[in-house]
Amino acid sequence: MKKTTGMNRAITQKWRPATQAVRGGTWRSEHGETSEAMFLTSGYTYDDAQTVADRFAGDAQGMTYSRLQNPTVAMLEERIALLEGAESCRAQASGMAAMTASLLCQLSAGDHCVAARAAFGSCRWLVDNLLPRFGIETTIIDSADNAQWESAIKPNTKVFFFETPANPTLDIVDLQFVCDLARAHGITTVVDNAFASPALQRPMEFGADVVAYSATKLMDGQGRVLAGAICASEEWINETLMPFQRNTGPTIAAFNAWVVHKGLETLSLRAHQQSRNAVALGEHLEERVIKAGGHMRHPGLVSHPRHDIATAQMDATGPIFAFDVNTRERAFAVLDALELIDISNNIGDARSLMCHPASTTHANMTDVARDAMGVSEGLLRINVGLEDIADLVEDMDKALDAAEM
Ligand SMILES: *Cc1c(COP(=O)(O)O)cnc(C)c1O
Repeated sequence: MKKTTGMNRAITQKWRPATQAVRGGTWRSEHGETSEAMFLTSGYTYDDAQTVADRFAGDAQGMTYSRLQNPTVAMLEERIALLEGAESCRAQASGMAAMTASLLCQLSAGDHCVAARAAFGSCRWLVDNLLPRFGIETTIIDSADNAQWESAIKPNTKVFFFETPANPTLDIVDLQFVCDLARAHGITTVVDNAFASPALQRPMEFGADVVAYSATKLMDGQGRVLAGAICASEEWINETLMPFQRNTGPTIAAFNAWVVHKGLETLSLRAHQQSRNAVALGEHLEERVIKAGGHMRHPGLVSHPRHDIATAQMDATGPIFAFDVNTRERAFAVLDALELIDISNNIGDARSLMCHPASTTHANMTDVARDAMGVSEGLLRINVGLEDIADLVEDMDKALDAAEM
């Protein structure tokens, strides 16, 4: 069969991940373009009235409106699904659109959601503020403590929601344990896999039901567009997500989908090299940080309390780690002394970026909630990029000198 029919699952599914990264989901037009086309169109035209009636009735395949389907978006969705090992995927306008849709499409008043304490600030906002407004009960637990998952379960528990590694504290959830527990109780697991991407961790291999992404992070990986994705079974996507998505419109723009689709071609190479750089930089800094009275949080280092679980469930531990320098003054002094590494709150980028979570990504939380999560005033989070490790080491050493560490 010709390669122009790359959307044929029977063919593409047997390809290995490196092949899927550059070819999965390709759906060529009659022109046979090498690079996937960008379909910047909001609507579609039809040869006759019956054709469109059949499509709206769901009796025929085909595009009807770009809030619902778009060829460029469909290519991205198919490529992510193949990399994830998921039956189906729907791209979203942003990571937060993906998280919001994943939760609201399935939770109703009277349901209960158990969520991880260590999480991205906006994910915690959803759990702490949005869900309760709709009568959905929530319980926040220490996600690195298996017993807390078990004891939080109630008769009305419907969803487990967590990140691993978590932003920014790098807490690791035991995927096999938590997914098995959820299965045994008929609970749906929603895993925010933004810190890993499918190149480094595929939660469905451990039994996760829904894997949600900020594709802004490693998938784009070059700091260009906002994007998100939700992967799950075909049945869950069609019956649980789509009625919500179709009518609420968190749809990704075709241009952004195209950019992320291109990013996926190099995802695995970037994610693995950035992971190697992160381990090297973390190893270099650890002793000095500890001597200065601080600590490291890096799943790739043996000092992480769940290093064994992280390395067992991940192919590599990712580009991000955090370290504590004790005070906000010192944290700011380190940031201000950086020459190469940028002060920036994005992650997954090919450039090294560093931020102070307490005053940025987690500024929307109360001091008490931040403290409970371990986002202290001295905590710095770094996304390690693709630069030469020797340049990164020099820049960090100089910054720690300036902060008198
Ligand atoms: C960035 C991030 C999000 C939100 O993604 P956006 O694309 O910025 O909306 C959600 N979860 C985690 C873990 C993130 O790092």
